[in-house]
Amino acid sequence: MSNLYTLLATGFPADRAKPCFILADGSEVSYATLETQVSRVAGHLIASGVQPGDRIVLKDEKSIAFVAIYLATLKAGAVFVPLNAAYTQSEVDYFIDNAEPKLTITDARSFVEQAATAGHTLDHAIPRNAGDLASLIYTSGTTGRSKGAMLTHGNLAANAKALHEIWAFTPNDVLLHALPIFHVHGLFVAMHCAFLSGCPMIWLLKFADADVLAGLKRATVMMGVPTFYTRLLANPAFTRDLASSIRVFISGSAPLLPTTFAEFEQRTGQPILERYGMSEAVIITSNPLNGERIAGSVGYPLPGVELRIARKEEESGEDTGVIEIRGPSVFGGYWRMPEKTREEFRDGYFITGDVGRRDPDGRVYISGRAKDLIISGGYNVYPKEIELILDELPGVIESTVIGLPHPDFGEAVCAVVIGTGREPEMIAACREKLAAFKTPKRILFVDDLPRNAMGKVQKNLLRQQHAGLFTKS
Ligand code: AMP
Repeated sequence: MSNLYTLLATGFPADRAKPCFILADGSEVSYATLETQVSRVAGHLIASGVQPGDRIVLKDEKSIAFVAIYLATLKAGAVFVPLNAAYTQSEVDYFIDNAEPKLTITDARSFVEQAATAGHTLDHAIPRNAGDLASLIYTSGTTGRSKGAMLTHGNLAANAKALHEIWAFTPNDVLLHALPIFHVHGLFVAMHCAFLSGCPMIWLLKFADADVLAGLKRATVMMGVPTFYTRLLANPAFTRDLASSIRVFISGSAPLLPTTFAEFEQRTGQPILERYGMSEAVIITSNPLNGERIAGSVGYPLPGVELRIARKEEESGEDTGVIEIRGPSVFGGYWRMPEKTREEFRDGYFITGDVGRRDPDGRVYISGRAKDLIISGGYNVYPKEIELILDELPGVIESTVIGLPHPDFGEAVCAVVIGTGREPEMIAACREKLAAFKTPKRILFVDDLPRNAMGKVQKNLLRQQHAGLFTKS
């Protein structure tokens, strides 16, 4: 086993003058330019005393310089720690205290310029073993302190190879990349597929409708979070014709609503390929490239991934439970949190915290997060079950269900809905399909739901915002 950078570079095109990045203004940056920058930055890191295993924190906006520093960190044998540029100083202080980096970079462009001026290079990657750390990814930390997921060269190499193969990337592909790159989706999933096939990426710093629509004409693959797809559908200029050069639209990081899947297929003739992943294991399951893609299912485990559904004894009649996984991309544990790591592994399987089931065909369906569970009057309520029913009601565009403190029930079920409707009729419609303890006590209407950068609804914010709904006298 060698350094992940060496593996990725085996995919670079033989003719390095070919483009790696195609920018919104049409200009291009070649693989040769990227490779030179990587070699200089890696040389600069080594000359600055960076040793294998040292952490390099990078907190900046998306840029090519950011990518060069990521790859150079791998090449120099150090550990890459990307941080969301939106983090506040006190959040950053926590990460720096926890990661103890050798170097913290907050201006990627000037760091790459400095490296060029310094004039060092690094021709060969520092040898690394499969079990050596490549990156620390801090989880979004919706409950408690954010934890650093330790991903090794072996974890990332295994996932990159599996995705490259199952999604059938070739040098003829053009990947539309509008994702942030402080997160596994944009940083590892998308870019590693491009590097391993040596194809170019249409490099958009954020999802701007006009740039995405222009990029789609030239791209063959698009990777996005569900909100990208709902935004495309909201734009009448997004037509079947515009989507016609794309061979696959891939979605992940948050659940894709079955209504979005259906509407997208109707508009473009293409079913979105939904896959499921997390910082701790990169991609875990995927719908098939060739074969039926089912709305609401995240598909089959990737080759080499073992997936089981852990059911509690008392719930043995049900086929839903917490998803546990084992395989080559599953991380080595949480950085400097051996206790937490022990708690989240059970005989070699990582307890994902996602609740789901498998159908007889082996397809995986996710019904929510274990920590999202509402306990109302002593009964367990999984919000997803209620959300699916609400989403079917006329006028509902999207719904999210949370538990709020309640004087009698402990927690009461509350729905927050984008769309229109009358609360009493909607509650009655839910009651026809759901037991009373699962039926929302209240339905609140909003114009928008709070989401993080990856499109995930931030239920913790909703819970805070509406905490007094049932308790205020
Ligand atoms: P992160 O570590 O920030 O990537 O978040 C990972 C979590 O996102 C997973 O544990 C799931 O709860 C959720 N997630 C990712 N992809 C999907 C998907 N396709 N459907 C439902 N949830 C997803």
